[in-house]
Amino acid sequence: MTDLILSESLAATRRRLAQALVNAGRPADDARLLAVSKTKPAGMIRAAWQSGQRDFGENYLQEALAKQAELSDLEDIVWHFIGPLQSNKTREVAEHFSWVHSVDREKIARRLNDQRPASLEPLNVCLQVNISAETSKSGVMVDELPELAAAVLKMPALRLRGLMAIPAPAEDMAAQRKPLARLRQALEMLRERFPDAPLDTLSMGMSADLEAAVLEGATLVRLGTAIFGERGTVAH
Ligand SMILES: *Cc1c(COP(=O)(O)O)cnc(C)c1O
Repeated sequence: MTDLILSESLAATRRRLAQALVNAGRPADDARLLAVSKTKPAGMIRAAWQSGQRDFGENYLQEALAKQAELSDLEDIVWHFIGPLQSNKTREVAEHFSWVHSVDREKIARRLNDQRPASLEPLNVCLQVNISAETSKSGVMVDELPELAAAVLKMPALRLRGLMAIPAPAEDMAAQRKPLARLRQALEMLRERFPDAPLDTLSMGMSADLEAAVLEGATLVRLGTAIFGERGTVAH
């Protein structure tokens, strides 16, 4: 993909997001675009940055660290870790990212909190929720969410911002909206329970269900294919 095509597909994606927001009766800038750059080369991230994109999402730690090193001159870039998170990866995630969307157990949160360097701002955290229980293995169940949220809210180096989910794929809008509505309701429940917490983020909406997610209140949408094109089969 050339830089020109990339800047055009990024602009088209921004228009698609703005239109979805307006159709949902929301301000056109009410949700933030996270460009999911997994498996894509650093040069494409740089080109997207040159077109004004600042938030980038990565799933695979070693791949992300290599790209971050290559792009270290882009000072205002914001890195989000959105992939599965095992204990042996928490230190580097705590040191090299601003956001983590995939925290689903207290042990991982505790390690991120303990390993976050004091010189950095608190790490922004979303709890990943298992919202389509029949298909997904990762994510906390909704009924276990208050306990996990209460624990994370006590960790000074973490800032609990909200919830994230990866629903099972569904064809039509009504079916797509159901799990997304459950995530919205789960965030509303947490807000009532923890009124002083900075819970402003619903991380949901991918290339295939962006419109449904925006209708259900997404504030941070994670788009890869729509911006960077299809991903090849890269082994990790
Ligand atoms: C890959 C990925 C995305 C982006 O998916 P697209 O369908 O390419 O938009 C979003 N969120 C997570 C957690 C991902 O792993």
